[in-house]
Order: sequence, then structure tokens, then C-alpha cells
Amino acid sequence: MPDELFGAIAGRDRAIPHFLSMSAGSSQIRQKTRAVFGLRLRGGESSLMLMKGKRGLVMGVANDHSIAWGIAKTLAAHGAALAFTYQGDALGRRVKPLAQSVGADFVLPCDVEDVASVDSVFTAVGNKWGNLDFLVHAIAYSDKNELKGRYADTSRENFLRTMMISCFSFTEVARRAADLMPNGGAMITLTYNGGLRAMPNYNAMGVAKAALEASVRYLAVDFGGSGIRVNAISAGPIRTLAGAGINDARFMFAFQQRHSPLHRGVTLEELGGAGLYLLSDLSTGVTGEIHFVDSGYNIIAMPNPEALRTEAAAASAQAPGSGED
Ligand code: NAD
Repeated sequence: MPDELFGAIAGRDRAIPHFLSMSAGSSQIRQKTRAVFGLRLRGGESSLMLMKGKRGLVMGVANDHSIAWGIAKTLAAHGAALAFTYQGDALGRRVKPLAQSVGADFVLPCDVEDVASVDSVFTAVGNKWGNLDFLVHAIAYSDKNELKGRYADTSRENFLRTMMISCFSFTEVARRAADLMPNGGAMITLTYNGGLRAMPNYNAMGVAKAALEASVRYLAVDFGGSGIRVNAISAGPIRTLAGAGINDARFMFAFQQRHSPLHRGVTLEELGGAGLYLLSDLSTGVTGEIHFVDSGYNIIAMPNPEALRTEAAAASAQAPGSGED
């Protein structure tokens, strides 16, 4: 399960060569971002209140590790009124108390494979609120058995299901949300660098993310005339249920965190900050963008050779039989 799977990431500082571990520790980063985004203020509210008077729908919270939850908490701290969806009763039991903790009692079931459930969410939002100011889409799925090995071996069934849930669902909910945004609004979805570059084991999910990113650009054009902005956050690796489904996630994630320009991973608070920027009036001139929040990993072509040499030396020192002669 995720905790074991990502244990090495949580303890990554121990494995990082000294010269790579000089950046701030994750608790310092969390403290800094909490201060910047106002999350340390009384009652969890920010003094800035950038989302005051805005109402939005958050789709994709599974638990308190979910990226959607990191974004929701920041939006709520800035005064947003939130509605949440959840997939299935088991997740509903986790999502409802989380929603309550940010003052939200508008929590609805939604499985994006079932169009009737998508329709009933937007009917309910329309009936209760009349209109929407923003949408957060943080939904993805691909068969775990195909999040390993070769992309070439992807099955037709999993390809279609992955594309439907991880890509088309955004188009489907964006159209319905736009109908509830007569005064303009903003939408975001979540993507990953595996949509832009070949990433081991990401396979059909990478192809779905590429299509999702293209959808962001097409939707931005379709809705731009109505004052509705559409953007994506391309997140660096985060320890979540979805992330844990990728084979060798522990190695891939730790590698990216060690070799990113900032020499670390990203926090839910940092993703919340990016969500706040893209959904608030701070970014009124921005649409159709893929905004990376990944400690800069996407900009490098290869890690620093010195770092690789240090890792290789550490690995050979730990290899069985080393030090015997
Ligand atoms: P998560 O497991 O917390 O969230 C994934 C969500 O997708 C869950 O709430 C799940 O219920 C929902 N979902 C899956 N199938 C669904 C369906 N048929 N109907 C409705 N909901 C469904 O994991 P997360 O990492 O927070 O994922 C959120 C988004 O962030 C995903 O798009 C993911 O690809 C993206 N992302 C994650 C990472 C990472 O490292 N975790 C990095 C970049 C992008």
C-alpha cells in the first residue's frame, strides 16, 4: 500500500548525497507555503481571501493525500464555497468529513463512466447554486496491470477506459460547468510530464495526458469568448492512491525528486497555491496553459553526471559482496 510503496520517498533525504540535500526539508517548505498562502491564520482562513464570493466544484478527492484535496483546502482558506464529488460509497465516507472540515456540506456521488451521474451532479449544482465560478478536475484511471511493461502491449479495453476516464471526462464536465458560468469562470485539470515525454510504465496514461493537455487548449479556445479560462497543472510526483498504481513508482518518483533543479519533490500546499493562482483573479490573462509544479524537473535533459556518479558509487558500496576484498 502507498505508505510502504513510498517509504523510500518519505525517507529520501537519507539516500540523497550530501550535495543534493542542501535544499529546504519538506516541513520547512510546508511552513513557508502555509505562510505564503495564508493557511496558518486563525480558523484556517487567509487574510487575502482571493476566492471570497466564488463557488466551485471539486472532482477527484479520494482522501487527504489527494491533489484535489490540497487544492480544495487552499481555495477554502481563501473564502471559496466548495462542492465535492466522490466516486463510490467507500470514498464518500472519506470525502464527507473532509468536506465538512472546510465548511462544505454539498457532496455528491459521481462516476464519470456513468453519464447519468455526471448529469445529476450538474443538475444539482445548477438547482442549488444557479451558477459556478470554477471547476477542479483531478480524475484519472488506468488498469494497474498495464501501468508496467511496454506501452505497445496496451489492450484496446484499457486504452479506451483510460482515455474515457482520464481525458474525455474533463471535456464532458467542462462543457456542463461552462453552461453554469454565464459570468465567466475558470477551470483546471491535473496532468503529468508523462504526457509530454516518454516515462517508464506510465504507458496509456501518458497518451491520455497528452490528449488531456490538447483538450485544455481546445476548450480554452471554445470557452474564451465567454470569459472562461481553462488551464492544467502538471504536477510533480505526489504520494497518492493514483500515484501508487504505477509500477516502480518509488524509484521513478525518488529519481525525479533527487534530480529536479530544486532537489526535492512538491507539496500539496504548493499545488494548492498553483490552483489558487489559476482559479483566482490573479491569472485573468492566462488560459490554455500547462503550468508545471514539479520543482523544475521537466526542464532538464539529463541529471548532473556528478550526481549520477555519486549514486552509482553508493549503490556499488551497498551491493552484496562489496567491501569483502
Ligand atoms: P487520487 O487517487 O487521490 O485521485 C484520483 C481520483 O480519480 C480519485 O478521487 C478517484 O476517485 C478519481 N476517479 C478515478 N476514476 C473515476 C471515475 N470513473 N469517476 C470519478 N472519479 C474517478 O490521486 P491524485 O494523484 O490526487 O490524482 C489526481 C490527478 O492528479 C489525476 O489526474 C492524476 O493523474 C494527476 N497527477 C497525479 C500525480 C501524482 O504524482 N500523484 C502527478 C501528476 C498528475
